[in-house]
Amino acid sequence: MKSMETSPNGKSLKVIVIGDGGAGKTSLVNRFIHRTFSSIYKTTIGVDISPFNTVTKGPRQRAIRFVLWDMSGQTHFKRFRSRFYSGTSGAIVVYDLTNATSFRNVQEWIKECQENVRKIIPIIIVGNKSDLTELRVDTPRLLEHGFPVYYTSAKNGDEVDNSFMTLFEEIVEEPLEKGDTEPGKTTHISYDSS
Ligand code: GDP
Ligand code: MG
Repeated sequence: MKSMETSPNGKSLKVIVIGDGGAGKTSLVNRFIHRTFSSIYKTTIGVDISPFNTVTKGPRQRAIRFVLWDMSGQTHFKRFRSRFYSGTSGAIVVYDLTNATSFRNVQEWIKECQENVRKIIPIIIVGNKSDLTELRVDTPRLLEHGFPVYYTSAKNGDEVDNSFMTLFEEIVEEPLEKGDTEPGKTTHISYDSS
């Protein structure tokens, strides 16, 4: 696997985006990084890696680079998945508010993440597609997980910045400036299954 570029101060924090296929992981990253949305469903195999540069607020500003790792396809290869989790500082677990199965699987994703990362990291849960109010399925509250839950729409942008930025701030334990001055370029890395 290619090693990541780092920010000027050498610090690069990996944040993974996990959850069932179709939940909207790629769309959320595209909305957050590129401010765009597409309704064309494209299953890519491998990992999309998107940098997001920001600075801490306050007098001693410090540059921080987050790198969003969006896994797609091949999720059934265990060996691939443990490589994917390595070095993670935070996780966004996405489910589809219109799909009860994706909601039930949130627990499994959290478990797999915790088993592979093997340290305590900030995690948020994101129920996506909040714009599809008519299709929303009734799901029990996620209180037992103890992780913050956000209801987002990658389509209209609702709560996307807020959820991502809140997680980032939890990771660095400092308030952050919002915008990336120049949006990062998403890189696709393909995996072989060996
Ligand atoms: P992934 O497999 O988790 O990466 O999911 P995608 O980002 O590829 O999205 C799956 C499908 O859901 C695509 O057709 C998206 O256009 C659609 N989608 C994603 N997010 C939203 C959303 O917030 N609202 C609506 N209406 N559709 C969405
Ligand atoms: Mg995807």
